This record gives sequence, structure tokens and C-alpha cells, in this order.
Amino acid sequence: MPNTDDEGARPCKRQRLNSDVEPSGAGQTDPSSGSSTADVARGEPELSERLRKVMLCTVCLELPHPDDSYQCTLGHIVCEDCVTRLLAEAVLNSRDAQCPHCRTHISWQELTKNLAVGQTLWELPKSCSDCEQQMEYKSLAKHLKTECSKRLVHCQYRCLGCTWQGCQEDSIQHEANCNYLQLSSDEILTALDTIDQLEQMAVHSLRQCHRQLSAKRISYEDLDLRWPLHTCRLDAEVRFQAPTIYVFEETWRVRIRLVVTGPGNERQLSYSLKILSSPREILSVKYFATLPAVYVRPKQLMDVEPELNEAYYNLAGQSSDFKLLPMSCPLATYRLLAMPCMKLRLWMMLN
Ligand SMILES: [Zn+2]
Ligand SMILES: [Zn+2]
Ligand SMILES: [Zn+2]
Ligand SMILES: [Zn+2]
Repeated sequence: MPNTDDEGARPCKRQRLNSDVEPSGAGQTDPSSGSSTADVARGEPELSERLRKVMLCTVCLELPHPDDSYQCTLGHIVCEDCVTRLLAEAVLNSRDAQCPHCRTHISWQELTKNLAVGQTLWELPKSCSDCEQQMEYKSLAKHLKTECSKRLVHCQYRCLGCTWQGCQEDSIQHEANCNYLQLSSDEILTALDTIDQLEQMAVHSLRQCHRQLSAKRISYEDLDLRWPLHTCRLDAEVRFQAPTIYVFEETWRVRIRLVVTGPGNERQLSYSLKILSSPREILSVKYFATLPAVYVRPKQLMDVEPELNEAYYNLAGQSSDFKLLPMSCPLATYRLLAMPCMKLRLWMMLN
């Protein structure tokens, strides 16, 4: 499937679609496309516009990304984000997920990708959401990254401390007059020192994980999270049940809650580690969670941020504080809930 801006690809189709975008070119359209000259004469929408309407996600009514469009067993198109939300909401409400259009049952196993739909989406014109310029979908990523005059950019003297950011088209004027061009050599040295400190902070978490590799003992368990054990509507909290695990000759249980946080009422998972057995000595345990690659979709691999927790245990029944499972974005929580079988990999280090 094309996902690059390959100028040489499909010259005939490109010519045809370009003609669709610009009505002035309609007269040159390939008659076999069944579009343009006749359509324009009849005052009907052009072929690409008609195709576009057919390809919209039936939930959010947006054009899905060509690689992320799915269809129910009856062929209704739903984008990946909407599928994720439908499946997660169904789980949380203990009901089956349905195609919102025809009410047939949907699940990751039943949803399919339609190759023809994906390829058509790559070819359809799509407007840039920032500058509204119209282009083929396959050119959009490059346009947003390097060409769009409305894309958000930082001042090129950001490394010296300038915090200006704005439209690319405004950056030229700003940079010509940027105050940071007037810095003295001492001020530049201070700015470089700050960059150095920020880099040190960035490698800190990596070093922390690296240090844990020399822990006395390391273990990991793939936890099978069962569907909500208990829903408390008052505090809008859902608790998941994880199985008992045996690690470092002790018995443990991970407790997981789904909590509603923030002004946007975003859902987030929080978890704590409880020891069920009586430890023979004080245990200093560090732990963090990741998603096991064998069970999750490639897109999910970086959904959980690496964040180390620490707890001490000397009595049976002790539990660490609940800590939010650090997710990369709100949708990442839904992606986890929408998994056919929710799995979390828990790493534990004994020091
Ligand atoms: Zn959608
Ligand atoms: Zn359907
Ligand atoms: Zn643009
Ligand atoms: Zn500047």
C-alpha cells in the first residue's frame, strides 16, 4: 500500500484525480472513470467527492486514515479510533459492541480491512486541516511535516532560549528580528548549559532502568486482567481482577482500577501491588508495567510510559499506593480496554 509521496506512482490515476480536484481540468478526464464532463454538465458532484462520501467513517463522519479503516461484516466503514472507543465502551458497560449503523456484532476478530477501500482512500483528495489546501491523502503527511505554511514551528534560535512558536509563514519575520540574535557570549554559554541539564534529565529515566538490571532478582509476569469485578457508580470507579502471582517465593496480587480524572473526565488506569503472603524479611521491590508485544497491536507497544515505582513489604496484606498507569495519550487507555484479552506485563525487581 503506498504510503510515501512517490511521484512516479500511478500516473494515470493521479492525472484523473487531479482533474477531479480542479474543475477546469474536467474536460481532460478519462471517460472510463464515468465522471467529470458529463457530471459537471449535469451539475452533479464529481466522482472523487461522491467516493469521499461513501468512504466516511460511519461514526465520526471523517475520512479514515487509509491504513486504519475497518468494516463490519456488512461493509460499513469505521475508523480505528472509533472502533477502539466502541469496543472499550462496550466492555465498560458489560455489553456487546455493535456497528452503530447496522447493529451487527463487532470485535477485532470480526472487523476486516478492505484493500480496495484502503487503496481508494490513498488516492482521494483530502484537505489539509491547517491551510485547507487540497491534495491526495498520500501527500498529506509530507505536507504537514515540511510544506504547510500554517504548520506550527519553533524559532530556529530555540536552543538559545527563544520560546516563540507560531505559523511557519510568520517565522521568517520573527527570526529576522529575534532578540536571541543579540545574545552575548556569556548568555550563549548559559543557554548551552541549560540544554545540557535538560539532556541529563532525559537520560535519567533510562539510567534508572539500566541500574535495575543489576537488581538481586528480576522477574516478569503477563497479567490477564479480567473484566470489571465491581463497578462503583458513586466514585465512577471500575476495578479489575488480576490473578494471584508467585514471585520471589511470595504471593502477590495486582489491583487495578479505572478512574475518571481531569477536567475532560478522561479515564485512566491506576494500579498497586499487594503482597498476600508473609515475607520472611523486609522486601524492597521496584516495579513497572509494559504491554506484552505478543498480545498487543504494534501501535500499542509504546502506549505505556516506563515509570518505576518502589515499595517495601514486611507484613502480609501490605499494599503499595495506587499509581496511575502512565499512558502516552488518552486513547491509549481505550486501546488497552478494547483488547480482546487485556494483558499487562508487570516487571518486578528485588533489591
Ligand atoms: Zn471515526
Ligand atoms: Zn454495519
Ligand atoms: Zn497545510
Ligand atoms: Zn526567536
